[in-house]
Amino acid sequence: AGSGKFFVGGNWKCNGTKDSLSKLVSDLNSATLEPDVDVVVAPPFVYIDQVKNSITDRIEISAQNSWVGKGGAFTGEISVEQLKDLGCKWVILGHSERRHIIGENDEFIGKKAAYALSEGLGVIACIGELLQEREAGKTFDVCFQQLKAFADAVSSWDNIVIAYEPVWVIGTGKVATPEQAQEVHAAVRDWLKKNFSVEVASKTRIIYGGSVNASNSAELAKKEDIDGFLVGGASLKGPEFATIINSVT
Ligand code: PEP
Repeated sequence: AGSGKFFVGGNWKCNGTKDSLSKLVSDLNSATLEPDVDVVVAPPFVYIDQVKNSITDRIEISAQNSWVGKGGAFTGEISVEQLKDLGCKWVILGHSERRHIIGENDEFIGKKAAYALSEGLGVIACIGELLQEREAGKTFDVCFQQLKAFADAVSSWDNIVIAYEPVWVIGTGKVATPEQAQEVHAAVRDWLKKNFSVEVASKTRIIYGGSVNASNSAELAKKEDIDGFLVGGASLKGPEFATIINSVT
C-alpha cells in the first residue's frame, strides 16, 4: 500500500434483489472494519435508495455509471443530480464492461467524468488492457491513452481514484500477480508525475481490480503502489469483503 488512505470499493454490478442486498447490508453493518480505510459500495441504481437508507454511514455509496450531462430527455439514463439526491458520493466511470460490452469510448467517458466532478461527485476512473493488448506488449500504451482521456477532460485530480483493472482478470478467476499489478501501478504513478506533478502522483490513489478475493488481497496490498481495491464478485459476500477491506494492516 502507498501513502494515501487505503480505498476499497465493492462493485455489485447487475446483481442482487431487495432481499439479498438487505442481507449483504446487514452483514456489512455488523462487520468490524479497519478504521483507516475508505469503504465504498456500488449497488445497482434501483437499489441505491434502499442501501443508502440501511447501511452504516461508515460506508459511502457509489453509482456504477452516470449520464454525461444535466438530466432531462434521456430515456433510461440516470443523472448525477439524481445520484446526489440519493446520497451518492462516487461514480464508477470507464469500467471495462461499459467500454467493451456497451461500447463507451474514451471521449464520452472523459466527458462523464468532467460532469460528475463538476457536480461534486468523486470519480472511480477505470483503466485497463485486454488480453491481446497485453500479449502485444501494449499494456502501458492502452492504460496511458485511457488516462489521458480522463486527464484531457478534467481540471483536477483531487476527487479521482484510479482503478487499474486488467480486463483479462475481471470476473475470470485469473489474478494478475502482485508483481504484474505493481508494475502497472508504478507506471501509472510515473505518468501522473511526468504529466502533472510529484504531488498529484503521490496523492492520487491507484487501486487494483480483477478477481480480488480474501485469499489474494493481503499479498496485493503489500505492494508499494497498490492503494486499495475495486472488488466485483467477492464484494457480494459481506464477510469476504470485510476481510479484503481489512487486508491492509
Ligand atoms: C470489477 O469488475 O470491477 C471487478 C474487479 O470484478 P471481479 O472482482 O469480479 O473480477
